Amino acid sequence: MTASRRIFFALWPDPSVAQALDALAAEAHTVCGGRRMRRDTLHLTLAFLGDVDAAQFGVANAVADEVAQKVGAGGTALHIDRLACWKHNHIVWAGCDSVPDAVVGLADELAATLRRHGFQLDRRPFAAHVTLLRNARCGGELPPAPALDWPVREFVLAQSRPGPAGARYEIVGRWPLAGPPLQPMG
Ligand code: ATP
Ligand code: MG
Repeated sequence: MTASRRIFFALWPDPSVAQALDALAAEAHTVCGGRRMRRDTLHLTLAFLGDVDAAQFGVANAVADEVAQKVGAGGTALHIDRLACWKHNHIVWAGCDSVPDAVVGLADELAATLRRHGFQLDRRPFAAHVTLLRNARCGGELPPAPALDWPVREFVLAQSRPGPAGARYEIVGRWPLAGPPLQPMG
């Protein structure tokens, strides 16, 4: 049996951040229409690997181990302060005016390490965004920019399964960005 999985590395919001992003999607939906992403699917893609076999899946996990070791910089936070619509693909998304260096660094390190291990990734540069609506109508006045803090303590490997109401995702691996262990007291 050849097990093929469609996988990507991502940042996944905790339930309270997902709830806030979902509320933003609901507001934008009143202006732009389209299809809302389900709350539990909201995420920020760091690197998309596409369909991989079992061996490649193992390599992707090893890459994540390596990257987590290298960048273990103690986590960071995304300040979600942008809401925008891309006309070319009809996506309404949330993002940041300024993406933290730690997140850009993580995405770059994942891409570079994956490429070194033979994965062919999209050539387009990393564009940090959370898709909120698909098939949206751009042009209307979007709700005001949000002010939302998203603590980033880990990155995940997610598996995507196509479904009738859009893709469903399952988290199949987690890597903390916890930094060095705390020094013992005293
Ligand atoms: P669907 O394609 O069924 O509408 P989806 O786009 O949410 O749903 P996937 O295509 O499996 O599901 O994509 C998973 C994630 O990876 C999404 O965040 C998607 O935007 C992103 N992604 C997909 N293809 C690429 C790509 N070529 N380069 C970068 N990111 C991608
Ligand atoms: Mg897709």
